Amino acid sequence: MKRISLTQDEAKDAMQRLLARVRIDEQTGCHEWLGAKTDKGYGSVRVCGQTLPAHRVFFIAAKGEIPQGLCVDHLCRNRACCNISHLEIVTVRENSARGIGRAAHAIRTDTCKRGHAFTDENTYWVAGPRGGRRCRACNRASANYRRKRDNVQMRERERELWAANREAINARRRARYTVKVSLDLGGGA
Ligand SMILES: [Zn+2]
Ligand SMILES: [Zn+2]
Repeated sequence: MKRISLTQDEAKDAMQRLLARVRIDEQTGCHEWLGAKTDKGYGSVRVCGQTLPAHRVFFIAAKGEIPQGLCVDHLCRNRACCNISHLEIVTVRENSARGIGRAAHAIRTDTCKRGHAFTDENTYWVAGPRGGRRCRACNRASANYRRKRDNVQMRERERELWAANREAINARRRARYTVKVSLDLGGGA
């Protein structure tokens, strides 16, 4: 991989003119690079006398320089995308292992598997090899489900405690009754 030397300030300067060549895709949220592209489909820009991938310049502008040995991965699998929230730093190995799979399929659909729309408000991103796009509605639903399930478990536990307690109360009553009966019998003799 070619070594890139570009400071965050240089990248920020370049952004001023680069932003004019980005189009936001309403469905995917991708920031499409409309300018020149490499044969692999990455945006290609000239900055500070170097030819660089467009998404890297955007990433450096937003987050700072990228440590050596790491690369910027597209969570959305759209190589022309410059949306910082669709980008993530990974090791080169992670990147090639991930390939085009579930994440790629997921990003091209506009709803989650339960049919919630992947709007900006309803979408969040998870980093890491098993990361990707997530649905907030589903996340809320599963949190509710867990809360309800925990409540049910708590009520069951209370019932068990109450039943056990009830058993203890009855046992004490029986004991008192037995003592009383034996005293009565003893008194009558
Ligand atoms: Zn994207
Ligand atoms: Zn959902």
